[in-house]
Parts: sequence; structure tokens; C-alpha cells
Amino acid sequence: LLLLCLGVSGRAEYLKYKDPKQPVAVRIKDLLGRMTLAEKIGQMTQIERENATAEAISKYFIGSVLSGGGSVPAPQASAEAWASMVNEMQKGALSTRLGIPMIYGIDAVHGQNNVYKATIFPHNVGLGATRDPMLVKRIGEATALEVRATGISYVFAPCIAVCRDPRWGRCYESYSEDPKVVQSMTTLISGLQGDAPSGYAGRPYVGGSKKVAACAKHYVGDGGTYMGINGNNTIIDTHGLMSIHMPAYYNSIIRGVSTVMVSYSSWNGDKMHANHFLITDFLKNKLKFRGFVITDWQGIDQITSPPHLNYSYSVEAGVGAGIDMIMVPFAYTEFIDDLTSQVTNNIIPMSRIDDAVFRILRVKFTMGLFENPFADPSLANELGKQEHRELAREAVRKSLVLLKNGKSSYTPLLPLPKKAGKILVAGSHANNLGNQCGGWTITWQGEPGNNNTAGTTILSAIMSTVDPSTQVVYSENPDSSAVEGGKYDYAIVVVGEPPYAETAGDNLNLTIPEPGPAVIQTVCKSVKCVVVLISGRPLVVEPYMDAMDALVAAWLPGTEGQGVADALFGDYGFTGKLPRTWFRSVEQLPMNVGDEHYDPLFPFGFGLATEARQ
Ligand code: BGC
Repeated sequence: LLLLCLGVSGRAEYLKYKDPKQPVAVRIKDLLGRMTLAEKIGQMTQIERENATAEAISKYFIGSVLSGGGSVPAPQASAEAWASMVNEMQKGALSTRLGIPMIYGIDAVHGQNNVYKATIFPHNVGLGATRDPMLVKRIGEATALEVRATGISYVFAPCIAVCRDPRWGRCYESYSEDPKVVQSMTTLISGLQGDAPSGYAGRPYVGGSKKVAACAKHYVGDGGTYMGINGNNTIIDTHGLMSIHMPAYYNSIIRGVSTVMVSYSSWNGDKMHANHFLITDFLKNKLKFRGFVITDWQGIDQITSPPHLNYSYSVEAGVGAGIDMIMVPFAYTEFIDDLTSQVTNNIIPMSRIDDAVFRILRVKFTMGLFENPFADPSLANELGKQEHRELAREAVRKSLVLLKNGKSSYTPLLPLPKKAGKILVAGSHANNLGNQCGGWTITWQGEPGNNNTAGTTILSAIMSTVDPSTQVVYSENPDSSAVEGGKYDYAIVVVGEPPYAETAGDNLNLTIPEPGPAVIQTVCKSVKCVVVLISGRPLVVEPYMDAMDALVAAWLPGTEGQGVADALFGDYGFTGKLPRTWFRSVEQLPMNVGDEHYDPLFPFGFGLATEARQ
């Protein structure tokens, strides 16, 4: 019945594009041939969920909806509630004349991090430290299932930025300062989308309704901006751009990545969103990327180049540069009107619109969205399931980088004994899931505290790991007399950065936030201490190195704090390697492996190893 529709004449009409037996290219051509300009421009438009009523979607033929960072339904909405929200929107899309399904995109950048009780994996910087691409692929597989559990089929991940300056607020979204490590972690794409068959290069691939379309972002040079200022200018010659920031895009394309998101940043002063050479000539024509290119959030609004300081110029420059889907969260009717008039007036050629829509439809057909437009209710219990939490725990454990172990190599402190008399656990990050997860966790910026989502804090992991005879005392910010008088055998101090995302995380000082340094000094002065640093990047630690007996970089581990206790108490060894150069002082920045004047506190790739206790 689906294949047959009653035509105007009353005769049943066979719709080729609805026939899954037809090759994708045939289906696209058939559908494209039936579409009006309004229907085409609708496909190119992505709007915020708050605006995405079924009515709005059907009225404007909206092709895509997103939940930007903070835009999630009631914080504690269940997987089922999410799925039914998405399904309602989908009904709006399917009720249109041609019934083209919309695609819903979300920032699932470390698990389905928008949803309460989802498994939150370590942020990318920690995954870079694992040097384990197959682990990252499995994380992609688990994330795909948790995202699909909420009815969503498209994620704005992975971020394949090569962060060259840790002052950047998004450095934790980058796997490494080293392009090769970033390239190796594009396995996330294969985990999210499934393995593209060989010979598939360039064409988007999504292997069915348990997989999601991925997005390599932010094209290109986002991690190379001046002083790490978010969205700023990346000043680098073509060779530098091509050898540092571009390589991971090759891998992504070979893996069949469905979409590429353009960067807010500029390249040598020119906004990426208007860069015809890099988007059309290079990405689409030379690299043969055949998925669709999407703007960043209101990305085209930033294309303002004198003397054309107006919106029409932005639309023309962005679409003209080769962007296919426009993230216009709010003022979407303005965009639709503007683009429509530019096409009608032959400012933007219809061939450019057809190219954009062809690419968007290619992704939708390839992933089976026409056949399976709705959420699969049987996936609801994938969200936060135990198997995924075990995987996250493994990732946490492998992401830890041991930077110091004992005052001398003859007296290693770690692993700590499980039978240890009395252990002091201190610091703002010991009992704080929100701090552990960082930004992009339930809300855009993330939130400190334990109310945001479910998981295991490092404190509770320690308590359940030690021998029952060991006394664990927790004090967030103890004074010297309490520390000295407590007669502790060991202390574990967990301090670091509060959650942040994007520009809010740009930071020129990179010091451990107060009272972290004071807690380290107070505790380590009189008790043998291991400091666990929770941060999205290296911080200034040199002044405290002598005070600490051991130092572990734990990055932003996510919900499974047990992985930290697993290594501290020797159930597993430490294996992580620095994905970044650990600088001494910010005056050295930017400083990356291979630089001429390389004088780090710990070099790229550093990481002490311990054996698991038998
Ligand atoms: C970020 C992107 C993100 C988008 C949608 C932007 O602010 O730069 O990484 O995918 O928002 O939430």
C-alpha cells in the first residue's frame, strides 16, 4: 500500500522513490524531480526543537530538527518521552505531500549526554590517552544504541579537531594535539554508523536503524585558532592546514561519514562558512565527500564581510560556498524567505540547491529513514544499560595517565593497598558527578553536583573497592589540624576544573581552580597523597609536583568513576599515554610535539605504567 498512491486522476500511482528496491540514486532523482522550490529549501533547513511543532515542520517542509546544547526536554525525560517527542515531529514531516522524513540531530559527544541516566563516556581528550581505536569504535556502537533509544538518528560527533592550544575551551573535545592520534580515533564514526563496505569511500554510510548518521566537525582548523580563542582565526599556511587539521577528514570520508560541520573559525582571516575553496573545491570535489555539509549553530550569521553587512549576503556566501544544510535554530522563516528570493532572482543557481538536496536525500535514503522513520521501542532499555557502563568504566581506566608515582622510582605509591587502615579522600571533584562529566552533560555547559545524572562518583568507587576493614573518610576541604590529627595512611585528593563548554572554557591561566591548590598543599604536607586531576586539558601543576607523591591525569571521565578506583587500587594497571604536551607554564603556549623549542613538564606520549596486582 505504501508504494501506491492515488494520483489526481484517481489512478494508483507507483512512486519510485518510495520503493526500497530501487537504487538510492534512482530514488533521489525521482524524488528531486517532484519537489517544488519550497520543498527543497525546507530540506536544507534545520530548526530547534522548541520551534519544531508538527505543524511548523509540515508547513515549511522542514528537513531537520536539532537539540542544541542546552535545548533538551524536561531534564529527567525518559528515553520513551524523547522518542515520542521525536515521533510527533516525524508525523509532521510525513504528513506533507511527498512525505519526506525529517532527520533529528543532537550533540551526543560523549554518549547520549543529553539524557538523564545515559552512559556518559570520557570526553575525547581521555579517549585520546587510551590510544585504543577499537575501544573508541565500541563506544561509538554503544552511543548509537543509546541515541536510537531516544528516537534520534543523527549525532554531531565526532569532533576531530586537532587542539593545538589548551587555552581553547573545547580542547577536551579534541582527541589529541597530534593529527595521527586524531586520525586513528575516527573509528568512532564506524562505531556510530557501522562499517562502510570497502569501495564505499566518499559515500555516506549508515548501517540500518540501530546506527546513527555521524558528523565530522568542525571543518577545518577549529583547533588551531589564535591563542586558543574559540571560533577565532587560524593563522597557518596551506601546508600546515593540510598536514595538521585536514588528515582526519580523509579518514572520516573513507569511513563513510554522513555529514561534515563547518567551523565558526576563520582561516587566515576568511570565515570558514564562506570558504568555497575548502568546502566545494576541496572537500566535495577533490576529496569526493558525498554526504552533506552542515553549518554550525547560526553559523552563516557570522559571515559578514564589509561592505555586505547584511543577512542576504550571509545566505548567499554560505550556500554559495557549498553548505547544504543550514542550522538556523530560530529565525528560520527569515532564512527560508531569503534563500527563496535569491533562487527566484537567479542569485543562487538552482543547481546549487539541487546539489544540496541531493546530498541530504542521499543520507536519508541510505540510512533507511524512509523505511524506518520512527523510533524503535525495543531499544528503550539500551539507555544507560550495564554493558555500556562497563565499557565506559574500561575506557576511564585506560584513559588515566600516571604522571608521577612516588617520591622516587624506588618507592612507588600506586597501586594503593586495599587494606589500608585509614584513607582520606578530599577535593571538590571526589564526590561530584557533574564535575566528573564536564560540559555537554545534560546541559550545554554541564553542571557541578550530583543531581544532574546517574553514575558512580570517584568517592563511592573508592569506598566500594577497598577492603571492608579500611576506613574511608571524606572531607572536601579539610584544614591542616584535621589532616594532621586524623593519622591517615594515605590520601586521595581529587581536584580540577569545573564544567564548561565552548567559549566559556577559554582560559589564559590554566591554573588549578581554588581551593584545589590549597587542598593539595594541606593534605600532601602531612599524608602520603595521590592527586587525581579532573580536567579537560593539562593545567599548571609544576609548583605542586614536589608536594605530591603521585599524580594521575584523569581528564573528564564521565559517569563511571569506578574506572579510577580500578587503577588506583591495582585491579588494573595504568596504561594511558599523554595525548597532549604537558606544559610548564602558559607562557610556553602554544607548544606541541615536534616544535623546535620543546621544553614540556611531561612530553606528548608520556605515561608511567603499573602492573595489575595479582
Ligand atoms: C557547536 C557545535 C554543536 C552545535 C549544535 C555549536 O555551538 O559549536 O559543536 O554541534 O552548537 O549544538
